[in-house]
Amino acid sequence: MHKKEAIVIKSTGSWYQVKTAEHEIFEARLKGKIRLDDRKTTNPIAVGDRVEIELSDDNQDVNICKIFERKNYIIRKSINLSKQTQVIAANMDQAILVATIVQPRTSQGFIDRFLVTAEAYSIPAKIIFNKRDLLDENLLKIQEEIMDMYMGAGYECFSVSTLNHTGLEKITSLLKDKTSLVTGHSGVGKSSLVNAVDKNLDLRIGIISEAHNKGKHTTTFAEMFDLSFGGSIIDTPGIKELGLIDIEKHELGHFFPEIRTLMNGCKFNNCRHENEPGCAVRKAAETNQISEFRYDSYLKMLHGEDMDWKHYDLK
Ligand code: GDP
Ligand code: ZN
Repeated sequence: MHKKEAIVIKSTGSWYQVKTAEHEIFEARLKGKIRLDDRKTTNPIAVGDRVEIELSDDNQDVNICKIFERKNYIIRKSINLSKQTQVIAANMDQAILVATIVQPRTSQGFIDRFLVTAEAYSIPAKIIFNKRDLLDENLLKIQEEIMDMYMGAGYECFSVSTLNHTGLEKITSLLKDKTSLVTGHSGVGKSSLVNAVDKNLDLRIGIISEAHNKGKHTTTFAEMFDLSFGGSIIDTPGIKELGLIDIEKHELGHFFPEIRTLMNGCKFNNCRHENEPGCAVRKAAETNQISEFRYDSYLKMLHGEDMDWKHYDLK
């Protein structure tokens, strides 16, 4: 018996693929009871987790015996009525949303929920707008305004065309030496994009897993891929939206950075920034100090409604 440290690169719920610092890959099981500081999760170990493994002398029997503390993690929305949640990934340096304003159109609500989720988990979030080649002058202008809005809120944005290979050098620097969760609607070009920045990667992000799972109610799990130039990608196939931890209404504003910086100026400290007198946030939106579209999206989210690009003609 000997022990090693490893990182979980794939999880199916019953066994885990782990990789050591020497790049050895083992299939490991979770042995017996493991101290999990009473995490209420169906899947106690997630991709990205750093673990200690115990190996038999012939390396045939590999068990996870310890999980190191997580820097962060992200959960999947619970799929049944039980309160259990599923941790899908841990220890990310950043969460990247690949979005497109056409073919398919990513809604503003979807982007903002992604950003709120990332804020709630303290994971730096970035947005890559793909399929620039499909945009005419008018759509390019709209996309620029959208990017300005997010950059104004403090989020780094990129505009690329995977098809024409425009803007990809910046994506390489963005991913280099980092562990990045990459997510976005099916069809926005996640797999094409990652394959274009790393030709050595035989990444079938989403494609195989989604085709394979079509119509089946199987649970899909995240997987981690190494980039040849350093860093890794965490793919979460079949996960439509990252799970939001329950956020109290009066706390939602904390997860919009531009609202967070203003809320101390509100008259009431439990201000929801709707119609309360002396609301600094509402005033800032009315005077264009912050984006009124982001503010609208905040209000929609507060009421559990979806927000699309109603201000733009993006049908
Ligand atoms: P995924 O589901 O997000 O992994 O998306 P895919 O990588 O499978 O791409 C979906 C479709 O979009 C494919 O037909 C790609 O060829 C196409 N696609 C990807 N990137 C671009 C792009 O920059 N421009 C255009 N026009 N099509 C793209
Ligand atoms: Zn307020």
